[in-house]
Amino acid sequence: MIQEYANFLTHLECGLSGERHESGQVHGLSRAQKPLLARYDLPKLKENVDRDEVWARDGGFWKWRELLPVAKTKNICALGEVDTPLIGLSRLHPNAKVLVKDEGRLPTGSFKARGLALAVAMAKELGLSHLAMPTNGNAGAALSAYASRLGMQSTVVCPDDTPAINIEETALHGARVLKANGLINDCGAWVKAGAEQGKWFDLSTLKEPYRIEGKKTMGLELAAQMKWSLPDVIFYPTGGGTGLIGMCKAFEELLELGWLDKTDIPRMVAVQAEGCAPIVRAFERGERFAEVWPDAHTFAAGIRVPAAVGDFLILDGVRNSGGFAIAIGDEQIEQARLAVAREEGLLLCPEGAATYAAYVQARAEGLVTVDETAVLFNCATGLKYPMPGAGIALDLKGQTF
Ligand SMILES: *Cc1c(COP(=O)(O)O)cnc(C)c1O
Repeated sequence: MIQEYANFLTHLECGLSGERHESGQVHGLSRAQKPLLARYDLPKLKENVDRDEVWARDGGFWKWRELLPVAKTKNICALGEVDTPLIGLSRLHPNAKVLVKDEGRLPTGSFKARGLALAVAMAKELGLSHLAMPTNGNAGAALSAYASRLGMQSTVVCPDDTPAINIEETALHGARVLKANGLINDCGAWVKAGAEQGKWFDLSTLKEPYRIEGKKTMGLELAAQMKWSLPDVIFYPTGGGTGLIGMCKAFEELLELGWLDKTDIPRMVAVQAEGCAPIVRAFERGERFAEVWPDAHTFAAGIRVPAAVGDFLILDGVRNSGGFAIAIGDEQIEQARLAVAREEGLLLCPEGAATYAAYVQARAEGLVTVDETAVLFNCATGLKYPMPGAGIALDLKGQTF
């Protein structure tokens, strides 16, 4: 028997103006061309749903059904989702509490699974059949896997220097993969043009309302894992910013539900690469919207996003929480990756390594203290990324050991 859950979705709201949009219809951006946020009947949810019963369920992020938009269980695509572990960096920081939330354990090896699983399920529920998206790598693989699992068609467009492993993994999962001679925002413009001609539905970051709901589960899961409290500070590798925005939304909803025992909200830190830091620049200038970053470059492809449609939501989230934005050089990222792998046995992705480098820098600058609990997001398995060559030649006929 298929288990159904109560659905509390009421409507969608423009993230900038708050203008109401109806649920039950296909939406892209709001009428103001800004991201739409899903809204729920939280007072009713509070009366009817028990947080500990929800947390005791299996199914990884799907356990938060009442706080998610999908109404019918048949539209859900499950691939063995798990709650991702919090792993302490106790050798590198014996006196501090530094926890890595390792999102590389999710299906397709990255936290893109959270957002895309929800976006694809909602697309199915709303009757769409062909989904398209630009990607720097991980999002494409997650879209392709979840869409295929629900019998839907997908088209993925990526810059032609996207790592082969991402392109091949995405293609193996069934998507049509196009390698374009441009950056991610150029690919996005092409996908948008195709969507306007009715070729497919555009599933770009924040250009439809539900990826954010999937990423929101990182905040819900973190709160439950920390016994319904939250860390002092969260370091998030910020590209399109879906996860940072989603977690801020999760914390607001948890507060409104009264599900937190300790109601302090973490300072949110947006981590970017020095070669692509539009949010850091806007933060430092005190601006609410970020200018496009020219000639974006960093080997941390997941945060190589020169323009984010949710820029103001990221910046609001950082500022309202008392957090900050910080840029890290590629060399520092590489060093951080080596240090954590060698000392802690944890192979981070470059974007995750950037959050560790940012933590070290923030500690050195006094922005974070030793007695504060910090959570760093490692968003993908380190196994998907190029590694330095290694191994020493051995002549088995020789006698030296
Ligand atoms: C997508 C991605 C990011 C950025 O996530 P956003 O929520 O879009 O800012 C960071 N790291 C990796 C590995 C990614 O795939």
